[in-house]
Amino acid sequence: LSERLGSVFDRLTKQGALSEADVEAALREVRTALLEADVSLPVARDFIKKVTARATGQAVTKSVTPGQQVVKIVHDELIAVLAGEGAPDALKIDNPPATVLMVGLQGSGKTTTTAKLAKRLKEKNGKRVLLASLDTNRPAAMEQLAILAGQIGVDSLPIVKGESAVQIAKRAKQQASFGGYDVLFLDTAGRLHIDEVLMEEVQAVRDIAQPRETLLVVDGLTGQDAVNVAAEFNGKVGISGVVLTRMDGDGRGGAALSMRAVTGKPIRFVGLGEKMDALEVFDAERVAGRILGMGDIVALVEKARETFEAEQAERMAKRFQKGLFNMNDLKMQLEQMLKMGGMQSIMGMLPGMGAAAKAAEKAGFDDRMIKRQIALIQSMTKKERANPDLLAASRKRRIAAGAGVEVQELNRLLKQHQQMADMMKKMGKGGMMKQAIAQMM
Ligand code: GDP
Ligand code: MG
Repeated sequence: LSERLGSVFDRLTKQGALSEADVEAALREVRTALLEADVSLPVARDFIKKVTARATGQAVTKSVTPGQQVVKIVHDELIAVLAGEGAPDALKIDNPPATVLMVGLQGSGKTTTTAKLAKRLKEKNGKRVLLASLDTNRPAAMEQLAILAGQIGVDSLPIVKGESAVQIAKRAKQQASFGGYDVLFLDTAGRLHIDEVLMEEVQAVRDIAQPRETLLVVDGLTGQDAVNVAAEFNGKVGISGVVLTRMDGDGRGGAALSMRAVTGKPIRFVGLGEKMDALEVFDAERVAGRILGMGDIVALVEKARETFEAEQAERMAKRFQKGLFNMNDLKMQLEQMLKMGGMQSIMGMLPGMGAAAKAAEKAGFDDRMIKRQIALIQSMTKKERANPDLLAASRKRRIAAGAGVEVQELNRLLKQHQQMADMMKKMGKGGMMKQAIAQMM
């Protein structure tokens, strides 16, 4: 997304104002990104509608560029929708024995997640946990749960051949009460597709088991059909939360947004692998970043590489190697920064740099300053740019006035340039420049 948004937002940046058409164009890209992240179409559409209303409402109020403003609104809204309210990892497991019913399609990761959650409750909360498989269609599935229980050191209900799911649920409840367990997990059977028989069985189990929690396990890599699954289970069985599995894959996790929009229930955990420890509390911010494809340094570096046209880079590299760095070089660097989306966006892409970006903004070091500096350099003659030492006091005043800034700002810029030029000279002599450039590219 950052790539594609980059081009749209370049346009926005140049215009410097956030019109309705600009917002629309930018959000069209966001919508495509959501769909590419496997967010279901109606959910993506609704989300964009919401954001459009907010974006056009508060247009051009901030000091950031319009494009960044739109991204910020999208990002914030996405986090708000994903997070919802309440502590996501607090399963209701007071009043022992508390039953947790695990539902979902076959292969979604129910059995694995059951064991992962059991391990977590045992180790983090010191709970005594009992696991029971209701997958009567597949004896192997029942054994799978028993094996996992053994691995993580919790008990599983002994398997009795020929029992129905409801019968097993009853026996499990009794065992949980008599055995003094804190939590009972019921791992239900899944079908490859939703069908009446499956739903009726789950409903019957629910009525017997009276679960405190009913967790829907959804494969985070599935796209459009995940929505139907969620709607169906939530409507017919009633769920209290969602667990998204396979979030360790290359999927962008758009299912998270779909689940929230369709069920309104919190996403509790995410599965990040097949191992028993590969379970984490759902983090809305992280998933939002992933859905939008922002927040990683790789994207930043790639973007820098793209915008830094090879030719220009080579020309500059040659000059730097000779230790040369005049005002034109500085101007090119400043323009490069703006092209990459400006200070805020560069810092925003580095994890944990949000505060630094704010501080820089406070100190007046923002995109507007970069633009003023470029304007200053543009007001100089060719000769002056090549050799700023030529600038007399009267010329300085005129240049500053031409760019609409105080002369102090020009002096600051000249000093900044002098420092960089000195550094270049030193590095150029020592042959260190080649190394430094190689690192930069
Ligand atoms: P069930 O049919 O819903 O009970 O699904 P299972 O728990 O048997 O899981 C099906 C497959 O998905 C197994 O091979 C699991 O190891 C795998 N699996 C489950 N959760 C995850 C996860 O978060 N990440 C990855 N990579 N694989 C998972
Ligand atoms: Mg299973």
